[in-house]
Amino acid sequence: MFNLSLSDEQKALRDLARHFTQNEIAPLAAEADREEEYPWELLEKAHSVGLTNITVPEQYGGGGLGYFEDCLVAEEIAAGCAGIYSTFVASTLALTPLNIAATPEQMERLIRPFCAEPALAAFCLTESGAGSDVASVRTRARRDGDSYVVNGTKRFITNAGVANLYTVTATLDPDLRHRGLVVLVVPANTPGVSVGKKEDKMGQRAASTREVIFEDVRVPMDNRLREEKEGFRLVMETLDKIRAQVAASAVGLARAAMEAAIKYAKEREQFGQPIASFQGIQFMLADMDIKVEAARLLVWQAAWLADQGLRNSYESAIAKCFAAESAMKITTDAVQVFGGYGYIKEYPVEKYMRDAKLLQLYEGTSEIQRVVISRSLLK
Ligand SMILES: Cc1cc2nc3c(=O)[nH]c(=O)nc-3n(C[C@H](O)[C@H](O)[C@H](O)COP(=O)(O)OP(=O)(O)OC[C@H]3O[C@@H](n4cnc5c(N)ncnc54)[C@H](O)[C@@H]3O)c2cc1C
Repeated sequence: MFNLSLSDEQKALRDLARHFTQNEIAPLAAEADREEEYPWELLEKAHSVGLTNITVPEQYGGGGLGYFEDCLVAEEIAAGCAGIYSTFVASTLALTPLNIAATPEQMERLIRPFCAEPALAAFCLTESGAGSDVASVRTRARRDGDSYVVNGTKRFITNAGVANLYTVTATLDPDLRHRGLVVLVVPANTPGVSVGKKEDKMGQRAASTREVIFEDVRVPMDNRLREEKEGFRLVMETLDKIRAQVAASAVGLARAAMEAAIKYAKEREQFGQPIASFQGIQFMLADMDIKVEAARLLVWQAAWLADQGLRNSYESAIAKCFAAESAMKITTDAVQVFGGYGYIKEYPVEKYMRDAKLLQLYEGTSEIQRVVISRSLLK
């Protein structure tokens, strides 16, 4: 049976996230952006109402819900502040390899205590020489007895310095490229782990983005996910699963920009009438809505496939690419609807536009999504 309606539980979760966003996130968004400070009390509140660790199984202290439900929450939170949402999705991204590949013992030891407290995790993949080309990772994991000794520097890591847990992709031998990668779970307080410079960003400024440095960090083999050399596949499976969430956050951000543009268009008068009466403005609003609705359906498809345990690389790449590019276009047009006021920080839409740009870059750039899509078309 084909059905696109939400269950009562799903509607209740979406409404919870919507109210939480309106009451707790939206009022703090402008200041968090200006001050580049993450409002910590938010995480505690989100944890207490069950809006964190949604996809972690209930038996380990998580929400026990699917990626689809996580996308419902993502859309709502990102509508309030995409930067604050990035801290949530970066944490889910870091926990996803554990959800996919951890043994019950690893979940019990590493994830149950993590979920018991308000806490964030971080996904440490990118390096200065390894961005889109993941197989170029140089952070080394050298076997020493029943441990790995990890050395290297990760770049652009969301939640770096504030996370309790790092999921780290390292290489056993850089010459092996894809076949050399291994994924290790590293508690942030392990000796030898430190953070480097904080990035001064264009947008999504509420999220902390820094280097993470590993100097002779001893990680027990028991913290390795899957077998040696299976790291690359695990990273790819993780990104496939989580791209729908990033796409959902693009839908939320775009929706918020569209709603702001509609409200302003009805209020602002020029030539003796609201600017909403001009067809040029009406069509811009209609095009925004077409993109929001279409992107949401693509998100739902990609997340539903992930929850069925079905491969969704192609669908999640389409959803991420379309939603991110739609968010960029919609937020830029929202500035246009606001005219000169759209360019001024006192109004909300310039932040939406700055925040949207990151969605075309992280978790795989729009070009990399097109690589995934065209590979699927041409195979
Ligand atoms: C604010 C922020 C937060 C981030 N958070 C995290 C995080 O938490 N964890 C993490 O691991 N990483 C994170 N990243 C890193 C992010 O995922 C990478 O920046 C991204 O994957 C692109 O890598 P790069 O910056 O090295 O760009 P490059 O890979 O150098 O790409 C440069 C340009 O070349 C294009 N390009 C590259 N390869 C191809 C190709 N084959 N075909 C066509 N075009 C191509 C790209 O699309 C891009 O336009 C974050 C980045 C930012 C800016």
